[in-house]
Amino acid sequence: MGKPTGFMEFKRVEAVYRPINERVSDYNELTLPTDLETVTIQSARCMDCGVSFCHAGVLVEGTSIGCPLGNLVPEINDLVYHGDIEGAYDRMSRTHPFPEFTSRVCPALCEGSCTLGEHELPVTIKNIERYVIDYMLQNGKVRSRLPRVRTGKRVAVVGSGPSGLACADMLNHLGNDVTVFERADRAGGLLLYGIPNMKLDKSLVENRIRIMTEENVKFVLNSEVGHDVPVSRMLNDFDAIVLCCGSTNERRLSVPGSGMEGVHTAIEFLSAATKRLLGVETRFDPTLDAKGKRVVVVGGGDTGTDCVGTAIRQGAAGVVQLEIMPRPSETRADNNPWPLWPKILRTDYGQQEACELFGEDPRKYLTTVKEIKGNGETVESVLVVEVEWMNDGGGMAPRQISGTEAEIPADLVLSAMGFTGPERTLIEQMQLEIDTRGNVRASDDDYKSSLLTVFAAGDMRRGPSLVVWALQEGRRAAVACDTFLNASHMNKESA
Ligand SMILES: Cc1cc2nc3c(=O)[nH]c(=O)nc-3n(C[C@H](O)[C@H](O)[C@H](O)COP(=O)(O)OP(=O)(O)OC[C@H]3O[C@@H](n4cnc5c(N)ncnc54)[C@H](O)[C@@H]3O)c2cc1C
Ligand code: SF4
Repeated sequence: MGKPTGFMEFKRVEAVYRPINERVSDYNELTLPTDLETVTIQSARCMDCGVSFCHAGVLVEGTSIGCPLGNLVPEINDLVYHGDIEGAYDRMSRTHPFPEFTSRVCPALCEGSCTLGEHELPVTIKNIERYVIDYMLQNGKVRSRLPRVRTGKRVAVVGSGPSGLACADMLNHLGNDVTVFERADRAGGLLLYGIPNMKLDKSLVENRIRIMTEENVKFVLNSEVGHDVPVSRMLNDFDAIVLCCGSTNERRLSVPGSGMEGVHTAIEFLSAATKRLLGVETRFDPTLDAKGKRVVVVGGGDTGTDCVGTAIRQGAAGVVQLEIMPRPSETRADNNPWPLWPKILRTDYGQQEACELFGEDPRKYLTTVKEIKGNGETVESVLVVEVEWMNDGGGMAPRQISGTEAEIPADLVLSAMGFTGPERTLIEQMQLEIDTRGNVRASDDDYKSSLLTVFAAGDMRRGPSLVVWALQEGRRAAVACDTFLNASHMNKESA
């Protein structure tokens, strides 16, 4: 523990957000860098409590406790307190491949379980993580490292989102020859073409791909396995394959009028915005531009918030965000005690910006879409209706309350209602077993699918989740795959 009395002396100081009026006029990152003095004091708040939950990384009744990567949080905090930033990075690197991503986009599951958080505000673990990795990157201290030995095994990783990158990184450092196949024109998955630039600057993703390339990981872009690259060739050419294809089937609106121009999914909208920002697409589809439009976002989660923030930056005339669930309580409910992740009301950057610019919180709770109205071709409004949650015998379900219908003027409707699972093409071609939710069936122990040399990780196996869980899955699947390859290698040698 850096300072035994630190948690009594110092209050939590959060990362500082750029002023709203300034930040909505660009796509630069939302928060400002923190200085060394601040992180030193903040790390002094860590009590090194002995039975720390912040790095537990377990699920209890579907709710997280601590960091899924098992980050050695108290040790990192102690090193930061003593000014040893390189030592802190070294400790971080033992469990965490890419802190530059999580230190920006992670909801900080660790902080939800911080012991100090039982009575006080938790340690700013995520912001300390950000200081450490930013210092290392800015000072050129994150360098490529080549594995000392090569196993001679060839592994294909399909998909280059956080699970694919973490998997490829680990497999490579374990000495295997790794090729990552990605159907998009650039690597990164949702880190690149999902999460907006203001949350995660795309130069950080590209920098990490550059380092991995220097470390001899091969990236094959514009190549969809099962379409451009036949499955039979993959099975022939590689000793093992790890599928990290994400949960990419978006849930779409299916109400009358949802086929009209001006109705899009969140990913169509967000990926087009990032492609425009990066100059990837020269011809931009004007129906995907929110400039001057009244925007209705259907879905109150993080993806919906990213649509709100992006629409505001494009110059939307107004934004409404519909949420079918009730408004969460401001404090933990009795059935959601510490150290479980607190399920409480959060007002994220997009909503804060909408409050400031349009004078009210864009969120409308317990509300769903009944119909999208227009002139047959173009959207003009959204007919919404309030719902109540009733037990219909098979569990809680929303029931529309007649007489509560209202019409919201709209020129652009974005569905951000989550994902229904991975796409079927590859799963069917490989004849893989799926679980009851439609994800690739592979156990938590060995990440092995029903096909001998094929593994699965990330959202494709787990269902839609978080970057930090995708990283954890990628690393664990890599270790399982490497163990499998070494075991079969040893078996062949002894045969
Ligand atoms: C808009 C949005 C915002 C989010 N914000 C956050 C956030 O702030 N914090 C957070 O923790 N999580 C966030 N998430 C969730 C997080 O991004 C995902 O949980 C995570 O990216 C899943 O990683 P993955 O590697 O499993 O899949 P993905 O990131 O989806 O990557 C899968 C990759 O596989 C490729 N692929 C698919 N099929 C093939 C094929 N046959 N051949 C070749 N390539 C293929 C895809 O093109 C894609 O690049 C967000 C999600 C969305 C949609
Ligand atoms: S990766 Fe997320 S949960 Fe883990 S220590 Fe960092 S901020 Fe916390």
